[in-house]
Amino acid sequence: MANTLPVFIGGECVSSTTDRTDPVRNPATQEILAHVPHATLAEIDSAVASAGKAFLRWRKTPLPERGRLMLKYQELLKRYEKDLVRILALETGKIAADAKGDLWRGIEVVEHAAGIASLQMGETAENIATDLDISSYRQPIGVCAGITPFNFPAMIPLWMFPLAIACGNTFVLKPSERVPMTPSRLVELFIEAGAPPDVLQLVHGGREQVDALLEHPDIRAVSFVGSVPVGQHVYRTGTAHLKRVQAMAGAKNHMVIMPDADKTQAVNALAGAACGAAGQRCMAISVVILVGEAASWLPDLQAAMASFQPGPWDSETASYGPQITPDARERILDFIRQGKADGATCLLDGSDCSVEGYPDGNWVGPTLLADVSPEMSVYREEIFGPVLVTLTVDSLSEALDIINANPYGNGTSLFTSSGAAARRFRHEVEVGQVGINIPIPVPLPFFSFTGWRNSFYGDLHAYGKQAVQFYTETKTVISRWAEDSPEDGRNPNLTIRLK
Ligand code: NAD
Repeated sequence: MANTLPVFIGGECVSSTTDRTDPVRNPATQEILAHVPHATLAEIDSAVASAGKAFLRWRKTPLPERGRLMLKYQELLKRYEKDLVRILALETGKIAADAKGDLWRGIEVVEHAAGIASLQMGETAENIATDLDISSYRQPIGVCAGITPFNFPAMIPLWMFPLAIACGNTFVLKPSERVPMTPSRLVELFIEAGAPPDVLQLVHGGREQVDALLEHPDIRAVSFVGSVPVGQHVYRTGTAHLKRVQAMAGAKNHMVIMPDADKTQAVNALAGAACGAAGQRCMAISVVILVGEAASWLPDLQAAMASFQPGPWDSETASYGPQITPDARERILDFIRQGKADGATCLLDGSDCSVEGYPDGNWVGPTLLADVSPEMSVYREEIFGPVLVTLTVDSLSEALDIINANPYGNGTSLFTSSGAAARRFRHEVEVGQVGINIPIPVPLPFFSFTGWRNSFYGDLHAYGKQAVQFYTETKTVISRWAEDSPEDGRNPNLTIRLK
C-alpha cells in the first residue's frame, strides 16, 4: 500500500489532516507510487505564519553561514544522487540520463547560491556632494513562495528556494501534485544539510492551494513555472494582491536551418531537441523552419527521428520515457489527428506506439508533420510531446518574421555556417534564449533564464543575478559625516539636503 506523503510545516514533517488525496502514478505502468495530500487552508496559513516567524531570525544569519548551508546541501544532493534519480525517474518516467540531467541542472543553481556573499554586494560611491557618500544594500524581502510544474521536479524547485533562502528569505514550496516525491526528498535533504527546518516549508495541492498562496497577505513574492493559462492566472492574481511575481510559462520553440548548415549536425541536434524527454521540455524544439534547399533534408530528419524510441526509465536503449499522464497522451494524439485533418503531411506517426512489457504506459512515438502552415493548431499551440512540425520558407527574413509573430518567445535556434546570418538572427530574433548551432540554449545559473511575450510574465528573470534582485530589496543610504562628528557615532547633520 503506497504511503501518503507528508507536508513540512512549522519545522516538522507531518501528515496533512486533509480528506483529499490524489494518487501519484508511474507513467510507464500506472502503478500507484504514493498519495499526495491537498493541504488544508489552515495548513497553508500555518506554513506561511511559521515561515514569517523564521524570517525574523534567518534574515540575521551571517551571509557566509547561508553560503555554507548551500555547500553542504550540494554535497548531500550529490551523495544521494542515485536515490534522487530513481525517485525522479519513477514519478516522471524520464530515462535515467534525463533524470540525472534534471537533478544536475538544479545542483548547479545550489552551487551558484553558495556564492551568495558576492552576489549580494551593494554599490558605493564617495563624494556625491561635499562630504556626502552613498551606498546601497541588498536586503531580503520576507516570505516567498514557489509553484512548480511536473516536467523538472528537481531543477525547477532548485531554481527557486536555494537562491531565495541564501538571500535571507524564507520559503513556501508548492510543487506539482503530479510529481511531489522528488521535491519532498529535496526538502528532507535541505533540513539534513542543516537548514533550520522552518526556513523552508512544503505544502502540496493544486489550484486551491496556489490561490491561497497568491492571496495570502504575508507572502511577498511568488515564483511560478508552468503553462501559459496558469501563468497568466498566477501573474494576474499575485500582482492584484500586490506581490512581486515572476511567471515563466509555456513555449513553442523554433529552429531555423539554413542550407549552408552542417546537415548531419543540424538534423541530429534537431531530432534530439524535438523528441528528448518525450518533448516535455519548455525548451524543446517543436517547430523547424527549413530555409531554401534545406527543405530537401526532410528524409534525413525523418530517419533521425525514427531512431528515437521511448521506453522505461532503466532501459539501456530507450531514448525517452512516457508522457506524464494518460490525459497528456490523449491531448497529443488529438493534436496529431487535427494536424492531419488540417492538411499536414504525416511523415512519422507516433500515435500507435507500444513498448514491450509496458502495455499501460503513456507512450507516444516520434511524430513528424510536414507542410504545416502558421494557422494550423499544431503550429499555434504548445503540444508538449515528441511532435515536430515543419515549415519551409525561402529566406532568413521570412523565418524571422514567422518567429517574431509567434505568441511565445522562450527559446530558438539557428543552424548555419554563415557568421552574418548568425549575427543577424541573434540581433533580430525576439526570443529569450537563442542558440547558434546549439539546439537547446539553456543558460548556466550565473546567467538568468528569461522568456519573451507569453513565455514570461514579470520583469526579473529566474536564477542568476536577476533572481537575486527579485528576492531582495535595494536600500540606498546617503550619509554625511563632517570631520567634527562626535565619536559616539551620532551624526550631527541628520537633515541632508542635496544641492
Ligand atoms: P501547469 O501550469 O499545469 O502547472 C504548474 C503549477 O501550477 C503546478 O504546481 C499546478 O499544481 C499549478 N496549477 C495547475 N492548474 C492551476 C490553476 N488552475 N490555478 C492555479 N494553479 C494551478 O503546468 P505543467 O503541466 O505542470 O507543466 C508544463 C508547462 O510548464 C508547459 O507549458 C511548459 O512549457 C511550462 N514550463 C515552462 C518553463 C519555463 O521556464 N518557461 C519551464 C518548465 C515548464
